[in-house]
Amino acid sequence: MSQSNDILQVLLTEEQLKAKCAEMGAQITKDYQGKNLLLVTVLKGAVVYLADLMRCIDLPCAIDFMVVSSYGSGVKTSGVVKIVKDLDQDLSGKDILIVEDILDSGMTLSYLKGLLQGRNPASIRIATLLDKPSRRKVDLQADYVGYEVPDEFVVGYGLDYDEKYRNLPYVGILKPEVYTK
Ligand code: 5GP
Ligand code: MG
Ligand code: MG
Repeated sequence: MSQSNDILQVLLTEEQLKAKCAEMGAQITKDYQGKNLLLVTVLKGAVVYLADLMRCIDLPCAIDFMVVSSYGSGVKTSGVVKIVKDLDQDLSGKDILIVEDILDSGMTLSYLKGLLQGRNPASIRIATLLDKPSRRKVDLQADYVGYEVPDEFVVGYGLDYDEKYRNLPYVGILKPEVYTK
């Protein structure tokens, strides 16, 4: 059965996402002239965005991935995460751009940014495709924001519910009956 049947409303179309990647990529290209750019992505939600965004960055750049997992229930309050797979390289002298799918409470990213900051990079910034500022629990802002979205649970374009819907080419609001069942 088509996954589209579980979508209440399409928020961002394929065309809008493509245009936004072009716009953000052009800005990043301008800002990182002469820098040593490393795109850091936390698996898995941001992979689709990363794949599109990096092709709109007209500069030499490297990519690397991290896998993190929550420390049980404590994570909801502290944001402290366990590194399951760390980056493969030394960060010293590199200009880090963390590429994120959605910034929600900001707890995870705030913790990760601090952790990476401690590794002596030349600079560290955040690019997020989606932002839910109304949900923020820590003082954290992304340097590059694609779209602000309302406080609804969204899926598609890499974002999952129960590991599904990542392959939808658009971002949509999931029907509440899917996760209240
Ligand atoms: P936070 O900013 O709260 O630390 O965590 C952000 C993460 O929560 C995102 O990377 C994503 O995995 C998940 N998340 C937050 N809001 C949504 C949403 O609306 N849809 C989906 N699929 N994941 C979300
Ligand atoms: Mg994420
Ligand atoms: Mg998820």
